[in-house]
Amino acid sequence: MNTTMSRGQEPAHGHATDRDGEWHRELAEASGDVFFVIRLAPDRAVEFMSDNVESQVGYPAEQFLADPGLLTRCVDPHDAADLDLVLTSPPGRQEFQELRWIHRDGHRVFLQNWIRTRERDDGSVVLEGTSHDITALREVERMKTVFEERYRLMAESANIVLWTMGLDGSITYVSPTVEQMRGFTVEEAMNQPLDEILTPDSQLIVADYYARLFADMAQGRVPEPFRCEQEYLCKDGSTIWTEVEVIPYLAPDGSVSELLGITRDIRDRKHYLDELKASRDEVAVANAALQEANEALHRLAVTDPLTGVWNRRHAEQVLTADLAESRRYGAPMSMLLLDIDHFKEINDTHGHLAGDRVLIELTRRLDGNLRASDALTRWGGDEFIILTHHCSLAEATGLADKLCTLVAADPFDVAGPVSVSVGVAELTSDDTLDSWLSRADTALYAAKGAGRNTVRAQA
Ligand code: GH3
Ligand code: MG
Repeated sequence: MNTTMSRGQEPAHGHATDRDGEWHRELAEASGDVFFVIRLAPDRAVEFMSDNVESQVGYPAEQFLADPGLLTRCVDPHDAADLDLVLTSPPGRQEFQELRWIHRDGHRVFLQNWIRTRERDDGSVVLEGTSHDITALREVERMKTVFEERYRLMAESANIVLWTMGLDGSITYVSPTVEQMRGFTVEEAMNQPLDEILTPDSQLIVADYYARLFADMAQGRVPEPFRCEQEYLCKDGSTIWTEVEVIPYLAPDGSVSELLGITRDIRDRKHYLDELKASRDEVAVANAALQEANEALHRLAVTDPLTGVWNRRHAEQVLTADLAESRRYGAPMSMLLLDIDHFKEINDTHGHLAGDRVLIELTRRLDGNLRASDALTRWGGDEFIILTHHCSLAEATGLADKLCTLVAADPFDVAGPVSVSVGVAELTSDDTLDSWLSRADTALYAAKGAGRNTVRAQA
């Protein structure tokens, strides 16, 4: 231990020179406090200063002895007047006082001094005393004030309720804002059992959390903080949606002593989310309607409105694409050009509406006997094309015979017997759509010429 003491030109006072001096000095250094003797009159001089002063304010004791002006230079300017008062005191003053100093490295130091002024035998006046560093204490107090202020701001914020809850589920504290949030006074809220505080669903969340909490404690794990949305019951019978944050408060021995909770009013957020959801639903409905309308539009664009089968425009597009594909892969493809026999007569005899019904019933009969890869098109008037994929001329002719028989076999609802004639043509490698159609047309013409209700093929 460093037991040296710095001395001024003169001994401090009686005690510094007696035989217990060394022991006193040791005691002084060990205490960490600073002892000082400052002559105030007739002139100002620092006669004695413990070495500890360097750890308090950063300047070595020798510097104070050599330069008493250092005292007034390193005091915090806010306390300069107080120091001046002390340094100009008459004898007989004795008190505790607190002065702030600026450490050599710039930070503020809080020193609590015990001082007294005394007149010595030679008529000089001295200030003697001790200086104790209370910076850490003041810092803790400052932090405490900051935390208290933060807590006060939180506790008074209208949409936050702070609370603590014992492990038995009893409320041990609730902030006064509970009255703004739920309408219950602090006293009322503190005495409520959980089923008067939360809706049944929210109570389940709490029960669940408690179960996890106790499991954690039983297995020696540190319980996790928890955040969830909960619905509180209000005095007026309404409920309020909140976001709750729960922090297990750990006692010094590591066990959970209670739960700290922050309950935040999220009505506005909930309301906003509900509105957002509602408008999303509206958009979804509008989208579905739009999609439906698009599909309807597409159906309209590709189908014949009377019979619902493909229309000519769409069939032409498909035929053109199929032509290219068949050339690429060389798969056989045939078309059946089908025309109702004496349709004009049917119209004339039974009326145009009955003619329409015949067109509809005919497509139903044909469609019901085609494969998924066959495509039925109303080519125009009473004329239909059936496009058969992967189908040779012979197979297509077989299909045409079958359809021809099928149409003629049973009379139609409104028009009695109806027959069709069919011309069949297989696609050849050098066909265009026109040449292919033209061969089918020739075959159909041949079928009509052969007495109708029959099939002709054109290779
Ligand atoms: P053919 O055996 O030679 O085919 O005799 P046809 O009477 O069927 O003669 P054609 O094919 O030339 O007559 C077609 C008739 O189909 C003429 C037209 O009035 C009628 N038609 C065309 N489109 C419709 C329609 O959408 N509805 C009705 N009811 N009749 C239509
Ligand atoms: Mg006809």
